[in-house]
Amino acid sequence: MTQIGARLLAATFRSKGIEAQITPPSDEKTVELGALYSSGEECFPEKVTIGDFLKITQAEGFDPAKTAFLMPSANGPCRFGQYAHLLDKILNDLDMSEILIVSPSSKDGYGGIGGTVFFKTAWIAVISADIIRKMLLHIRPYERVEGTTDEVYEKSIVRAEKLIERQDLNYNKLMSLLTKELISIRDNFRAIDADYVKGKPLLAVVGEIFCRHNRFANENMIRKLEEHGAETWLADVGEWIFYTVWSRMDKLVRKGKKLSGDMAVAKMKRHFMKKEEHKLLELFHDDFTGYEEPSDVTELVERAEPYLPSRGALGEMSLSLGRSSFSHSKGVDGIVDISPFSCMNGIVSETVYQEFSKDHNNIPCRVFYYDGVNIDLDRDIGIFMELVKGYKNRKKVERCYNRFFPD
Ligand code: SF4
Repeated sequence: MTQIGARLLAATFRSKGIEAQITPPSDEKTVELGALYSSGEECFPEKVTIGDFLKITQAEGFDPAKTAFLMPSANGPCRFGQYAHLLDKILNDLDMSEILIVSPSSKDGYGGIGGTVFFKTAWIAVISADIIRKMLLHIRPYERVEGTTDEVYEKSIVRAEKLIERQDLNYNKLMSLLTKELISIRDNFRAIDADYVKGKPLLAVVGEIFCRHNRFANENMIRKLEEHGAETWLADVGEWIFYTVWSRMDKLVRKGKKLSGDMAVAKMKRHFMKKEEHKLLELFHDDFTGYEEPSDVTELVERAEPYLPSRGALGEMSLSLGRSSFSHSKGVDGIVDISPFSCMNGIVSETVYQEFSKDHNNIPCRVFYYDGVNIDLDRDIGIFMELVKGYKNRKKVERCYNRFFPD
């Protein structure tokens, strides 16, 4: 999850009376602990996650009997499904088996995370986080005074947290207040002194969900791309949740359960998710003109199909290719895929980006790998940006600007 997504999800737990906090920011100690208790074959996000939890166990006043770690899971070949098991084993080895590990799974679209009301609140928290981050990324590259967008962003997160964590609101009341709060947050972003000049290269950022969203894991890649003159469009967290629901429905169809109670539940869930997402996104209609999301995750899966068959290549690799194709259709100038070193998602995607690029007017696509070893990426980003500028001058699909860019 993104930091903002995790903060708003923690606020959702607090609204149900659970004293939830996000793990402190990752640092060198995180990597040190992650490496100490792993074999070296784990992916980088696994090391970071384990390291972050272990850091908490070493904090002053830590009480294992009063602690639970939320470590969601997924099925399929991805190592994410192993995180909770490894964490459990390590905590046992360290005599901390008292710590409860809460592990909802993608199998049912994370439905096991709590009851219906919890899921509904968590969903609008995730969508709000995606929206606020989108505003940050679309405005920051144009701000006149450095740091102003970050400041508005931080204040917006605190406001959203304070509202979502309230225990005295039912869902409808929360939604109504959240709508008002987001309008006010939107207006604060709009008030930022910015110089909206057309022509900045727009890059779609796709890839492994943890690494692309975790600033520590990707060495602040978004900021680096901005320093090189780009604006970025980062694939949302909500996209993954929609994908897990799509995946669940697809499996039911393949099991011959198209007309089943489980299918009805999955459809109702998808309907609710879309409806609420639409309501909140609509408030930002003018801001997100040109940055519209696909109408359905099925579109992404279908766009990926010529390169990665969705029923063979599951998960983020399909989404990365599908979003790359979708982003191309929106006029972006390049594709950046952020991947942990040794993760098959990045490796598989990289093998097909060449063909994808050829089919899309040679749009530059580049996978950047991360493994926790600090490397100077400036040279690589610089070369990539040269390709991006070349493509920008010859591309056939122009991007659409929102009304804040003067003609
Ligand atoms: S997608 Fe790759 S990096 Fe992410 S959890 Fe799975 S195996 Fe690890």
